[in-house]
This record gives sequence, C-alpha cells and structure tokens, in this order.
Amino acid sequence: MLAYTAPSTVEEAVRVLAGASGVAKVLSGGTDLLVQLRSGRVSPDLIVDTKKIPGISGVQERDGGFVIGAAAPGAVIGECEALRQAWPGVVEAANLIGSTQIQGRASLAGNLCNASPAADSVPALIAARATCVVAGPNGRREVPVESIVTGPGRTSLGRDELIVEFRLPKRPPRSADAYLRFIPRTEMDIAVVGAGVSVTLDPAGVCTDARLVLGAVAPTAVLVPEAAAALVGRKLDETALAGLDQAARRACKPIDDKRGTIEYRTKVAGVLARRTATIAYERAKERG
Ligand SMILES: Cc1cc2nc3c(=O)[nH]c(=O)nc-3n(C[C@H](O)[C@H](O)[C@H](O)COP(=O)(O)OP(=O)(O)OC[C@H]3O[C@@H](n4cnc5c(N)ncnc54)[C@H](O)[C@@H]3O)c2cc1C
Repeated sequence: MLAYTAPSTVEEAVRVLAGASGVAKVLSGGTDLLVQLRSGRVSPDLIVDTKKIPGISGVQERDGGFVIGAAAPGAVIGECEALRQAWPGVVEAANLIGSTQIQGRASLAGNLCNASPAADSVPALIAARATCVVAGPNGRREVPVESIVTGPGRTSLGRDELIVEFRLPKRPPRSADAYLRFIPRTEMDIAVVGAGVSVTLDPAGVCTDARLVLGAVAPTAVLVPEAAAALVGRKLDETALAGLDQAARRACKPIDDKRGTIEYRTKVAGVLARRTATIAYERAKERG
C-alpha cells in the first residue's frame, strides 16, 4: 500500500527517506510525479511531501544573490520582482513550464529531478551557474546544478537525499541572461530545443564571460564551452554569432522523434543559440 508523509523539517525528511523499506519518492509540486503514479509509470511505497518544510516554497535574497526553495512554484518565482530583474532568463524558463495551473505547483527541484532532457528550467539554471543544496544523512552539500542529472530519468542523488534549495550568485554589473525554447505549438508543449545564455560585458560592450546551455538535444542538458570561446573578447557581431551557432550545432547529440529529426534539432539549436544570446546581450547592455 502507498504511504504518505509530510515532514516538517529537512532532517525529518532525510530520516524518513533513509528509513524507508521500499521505494520512496520525494514530492514537491507533483505535476510530474502524480501523472506518473496515475499512469503506473512509477509505483513507490512511500511519498515524502516536502511542502510543510518552512522556507522550501519561497524565494529570498541573500548576500546579493538569491535562494529559491526546492519546492517554490513557478508562480512564486515569477512574482519576485528582484529575482526577475537580476535573473530574467531563469525566471522566464521557470515560467514557461506548463499552464497557469501547473505554475501554481511546478518547482525547480521537480523539473531537475524528473531528469527530462527537455526540462525548461535546467539550461537556464546551469547557464546562471546556479548551485543546489542537497541534504542527506551526512548533512548538506552544495553542488552545481549540472552535477545532478546523469541521464534521462536518472540523477546522482542517493535514495536518502533531497534537494533543499537553489542558489543564484550575485550578478556582476553589465550582466544578464535569457532562455528561449522552440516548441511545435505555441504553448503547453515540450521543447524541441531549449537554450539558456548568460553573458557579462565590459563597459565597451565586449563580452568578458558567457555560458550557453542547450536542452533537448542530448540525454542531459549540454554546457557548450566552445560557445563561450566564440563570444568572449568580442562584441556580439556576426563573427561571434556565427561561431556561437556552429558551437551549438556541434554540441548536439539529439534523437529523432515526432517533434523533430536530428538534422532539424541541430539546425534549431544554432538558431536559438543566436537569438537567446542576442537577448541576453541586449539586456546586459541596458544594465551598463
Ligand atoms: C500539463 C503539463 C505541462 C507541462 N509542461 C512543461 C513544460 O512546458 N516544461 C517542462 O520543463 N516541464 C513541463 N511539465 C513537467 C512538470 O510540470 C515539470 O517538470 C515540473 O517542474 C515538475 O515540478 P514538480 O514540483 O511538480 O515535481 P514533482 O512531480 O513533485 O517531482 C518530479 C520528480 O522530482 C523528484 N523530486 C521532487 N522534488 C524533489 C526534491 N526536493 N529533491 C529530490 N527529488 C525531488 C520527484 O521524486 C519526482 O521524481 C509539464 C507537466 C504537465 C502535467
């Protein structure tokens, strides 16, 4: 029989997970987990609902950066004006997930730990150099977001671990991010390709730091270091954009499916990388 518990502290959640005899699943918003339960894709023995843990559903400014609770829903993330100003790409990615109803529940931890290659918030978080705090029986550790997903539906988390929060660093001046995805319909669909870009400029508009991360083109989100090489040291001219486009295409190892062929996804990755970088660059310039 399926058991349910809603601990009121992180330590209690870890204890319950560690002591579970069968398969235990952490529940944040449930917009993936409940669908999978209903369809029989997962059949856990225990559900550990995190939402009663204080702070886990909120957003806070800390040391010039931000702490986003693991279970903070998209709606709460989108309502935080300071976060929207500092990390518009992360917020737009989180707010692309599902519909208004889904936004009332869907969290960053669930999006990450469901480990879909097409998860929208993940490329934006990695581009932002976000970290997450993982709690387990040996305490807490802070790790880069990119270290969590190891393949479709798989994570590096132990069975007795859960994500507690995400941390976004303080923004340097003249720095901004953006996220775009391409979907076959205008909304409520899964990304054919997603692209997250974060850039920092010097006072002359020359790029001093850049991160491009692609989603839905490989088993996990792909950080593209060659894209940074194409942008850093240049303004966003056609040479830089062409280098970025090529780097994005080369990083793709997509599948063929009903949403797009390998060739199509690869081409879209280059186009989206250009468009997303242009938005991030213009936003960063406005902050000069
Ligand atoms: C109609 C609909 C539309 C959708 N549209 C999109 C979309 O456009 N883009 C997109 O990316 N996704 C989409 N999704 C998928 C889903 O909404 C997102 O992945 C969402 O972010 C999941 O968050 P959640 O809090 O609901 O996760 P849950 O369902 O609670 O959990 C998902 C997985 O993560 C694990 N988990 C949850 N919290 C933690 C934690 N703190 N620590 C460790 N593991 C944890 C769970 O055990 C489970 O395996 C859609 C889903 C639906 C039903």
